[in-house]
Amino acid sequence: MKLFDLIIIGGGPIGLNCALEAEKAGLSYLIIEKGTIVNSLYNYPLYMTFFSTADKLEIADIPFITTSPKPGRRDALEYYQGISRQRNININLYEEVLKITKEEQFVVETSKSVYLAKKVVIATGFYDIPNKMNVKGEELSKVKHYYSEPYPYANQKIAVIGSSNSAVDAALETYRKGAEVTMIIRHSEISKSVKYWVKPDIENRIKEGNIAAYFNAEVLEITPTTIIFKDENQTVQEIENDFVLAMTGYLPNFEFLRNSGIELQGDCLNPFYSEETMETNVPGLYLAGVVCGGKDTHLWFIENSRIHANLIVKDILSKIEVSRNQ
Ligand code: FAD
Repeated sequence: MKLFDLIIIGGGPIGLNCALEAEKAGLSYLIIEKGTIVNSLYNYPLYMTFFSTADKLEIADIPFITTSPKPGRRDALEYYQGISRQRNININLYEEVLKITKEEQFVVETSKSVYLAKKVVIATGFYDIPNKMNVKGEELSKVKHYYSEPYPYANQKIAVIGSSNSAVDAALETYRKGAEVTMIIRHSEISKSVKYWVKPDIENRIKEGNIAAYFNAEVLEITPTTIIFKDENQTVQEIENDFVLAMTGYLPNFEFLRNSGIELQGDCLNPFYSEETMETNVPGLYLAGVVCGGKDTHLWFIENSRIHANLIVKDILSKIEVSRNQ
């Protein structure tokens, strides 16, 4: 069985960046990815726009050229998948890592095979597990935790849960395709992190009454034809409803992290790692990208976690004998 210097779990932007950095350092590596290349981005809303400018999403100093300053999903797919193609990144696709065990080396068990590695990076992101509302009716097929495009919702009564970028984009897009939109929001206002050029749009649509919004509100139950919630006066309301877009965020796979031996700390289940090296409490096991934030998934994004690859490879080089030309 081939022994890699480094196995990277997850072929998102940050996993790819780790691979490019490893290659530059002469480390043998393999990315194992359970979907396609940059699978989370592939599953983003079709017409989304990144809040970052293209240069802030670049990895390994490879220019990200777009016609508009802020790229969309397709631009990002072309950029990251293009890098993988051109740089001949060593990546296994549609292969899920199920278990990591630390013996003399790391044993990485997947849905297809078993691999050995001296070091492992977990860069699995957080986009696979929806943060559930845990209310009756959430399992109904009309409740969506992923929003793709507005067209299925024309002429429908939509409840959008949440007030961050994803919720606001879904509310505005569906409203503009003829949906009757009601936002049910836990907080007292639209999130401050909403893209600065979108925030006035949603606030004005709410102010003029074209999009209904209930602040300080809590969803209680979803039925096949209605949604029931408590408004800010603690009054229980039941309104007609065809679809619920529950834009309530996503969570890292805590069970996978825990089973890999990583300590999770505090209310946010922050995984333990060194900020200097990204190494976890398991020697040789590193974290990279947005998985580092625990439940606080707004902490890390591509822009500010690109640096993780450099920190990790620098630390690995200081610790292992490089096995070139294996
Ligand atoms: P991901 O991209 O999530 O990659 C993780 C990969 O790991 C996935 O491909 C997944 O399939 C794979 N994986 C998971 N578990 C396993 C397993 N067990 N085995 C094998 N593979 C596995 N960030 C910015 O910097 N700027 C922006 O403008 C911006 N806009 C955003 C807009 C939206 C709508 C969203 C949702 C996020 C946005 N972000 C933005 C955040 C950014 O997209 C993420 O931070 C980024 O995807 C993180 O990269 P990552 O490689 O850490 O994780």
